[in-house]
Amino acid sequence: MSDALNRQTITEELLNTLVCQLGADYVLTEESDMLPYVQEQRRLYPGCALAVVMPACTAEVAFIVEQCREHNVPLVPQGGNTGLVGGGVPQQSIVVALGRMNRIRDIDPTNATITVEAGCILQVVQDAAQDAGRLFPLSLAAEGSCQIGGNLATNAGGINVLRYGNARDLVLGLEVVLADGSVMNSLTALRKDNTGYDLKHLFIGSEGTLGIITAAVLKLFPLPRGKATTLVGCDSPHQVLALYEHMRDRLSDTLTAFEFLPRFAMDVVLSHIHGARDPFSLSYASYALIELTTPNADLDLNARLEVALADAFENDVVRDAVIATSSTQSKALWRLREGVAEAQTAEGASIKHDISVPVSSIADFIEAASAACLTILPASRICAFGHVGDGNLHFNISQPVDMNAATFMDLTPRFNRAVHDLVADMNGSISAEHGIGLAKRTELRRYKDPVALAMMESIKATLDPQGLFNPGKLL
Ligand SMILES: Cc1cc2nc3c(=O)[nH]c(=O)nc-3n(C[C@H](O)[C@H](O)[C@H](O)COP(=O)(O)OP(=O)(O)OC[C@H]3O[C@@H](n4cnc5c(N)ncnc54)[C@H](O)[C@@H]3O)c2cc1C
Repeated sequence: MSDALNRQTITEELLNTLVCQLGADYVLTEESDMLPYVQEQRRLYPGCALAVVMPACTAEVAFIVEQCREHNVPLVPQGGNTGLVGGGVPQQSIVVALGRMNRIRDIDPTNATITVEAGCILQVVQDAAQDAGRLFPLSLAAEGSCQIGGNLATNAGGINVLRYGNARDLVLGLEVVLADGSVMNSLTALRKDNTGYDLKHLFIGSEGTLGIITAAVLKLFPLPRGKATTLVGCDSPHQVLALYEHMRDRLSDTLTAFEFLPRFAMDVVLSHIHGARDPFSLSYASYALIELTTPNADLDLNARLEVALADAFENDVVRDAVIATSSTQSKALWRLREGVAEAQTAEGASIKHDISVPVSSIADFIEAASAACLTILPASRICAFGHVGDGNLHFNISQPVDMNAATFMDLTPRFNRAVHDLVADMNGSISAEHGIGLAKRTELRRYKDPVALAMMESIKATLDPQGLFNPGKLL
């Protein structure tokens, strides 16, 4: 346990100082008021906050950090609290909730940039970009409540990574409050800036352990003017991988999403998601949900898709396909993919892994990891789905139908070891999207290169020598 976690108190003096600066409405100390900030939606990591403070501007964040440094009290930055690994859950810390910092400071369609405060909801940023005739392409199921600060602190991915990259790839500049209360102003909107270390990348993906992100300059893109969506039935993950290569060759940059579903995922969605419908009359072992977009209104994407699929049939890399002919049909196909997590929860307990391997290894991984899990528990139901085009899978295992959920969950360490050892053998990552937080700290120590881990520790010690920022998380 770090020094910061041992402090565990907040003095009246500190509380009064914070109330004086922020106003009583923005310093919460009642348990009932703090409840939404001390646990995540899945309630896996019980937390405890000393107070919740809600700054309205960067100067107030800097003031809070300075005061906490003087009083040696730890802090947890928190955005929309949609994280899934316990990263934003306080453990005897003050929660700095960024939601009031929700201004769009600037939008420059010519430079294709938007400058936003950390507490802006992702969907609000997408809408502001759209109103200016531009696209902000970061898109994930939590976009109605997650915030840009949280997206950057976790280097969020989502459904458009294949075409536009992760959150990290969408940032030009950052403003960050550091552990001594100073403000790093690197809010540059430049695409070229070779003036030494690119410090923003230290804070992107740092899960609130190095500083509090208060604003960012984000990249915008031309708005898509055409879209085509197809669901494809295949015999196996290997066939889906061959199809991915085929589509990538034929459709190049128009390929925006390439998602994978096994039959088990389709079955649980059809059982539990209201209105979900199988568009095929036959059942297939594997499915790919593919989306193309283009900013060019003259390009007929459906025609290009039909040609590419016809070639795929000829090359024997596809068994069946439906192409959406309306946006309602496109949404219905996406619902089959987006409903998997909810449907799996309704199906019973599940043990989850958020992994990545090189795209070329993904089919081998699914095969080997499934075999390893079936050796541990032959009645396991494997639900490996996700962003195959990014090499990122949610490799989940659903409990056997007649097994007690707690007995099944007791097997978590054995499944983790089998799955993560295979990930390591294939030069993959044990955390492709959600981060490390509290959930994967032990696994990080096991699998991260020791030299890289030592460098991370030394960066943490340099930037946050008192260990005030989000103690007990990530490292
Ligand atoms: C339904 C659902 C779908 C999801 N889908 C995806 C997905 O497709 N891809 C993906 O990558 N993730 C996904 N996630 C998880 C993802 O990490 C979050 O949804 C999102 O990026 C976190 O943003 P948030 O504002 O909620 O952050 P929080 O949960 O509040 O915080 C997450 C971490 O960031 C830190 N943090 C928050 N704000 C700041 C700040 N301003 N400065 C410094 N540190 C900060 C916190 O301390 C914590 O460690 C999903 C989650 C849900 C619930």
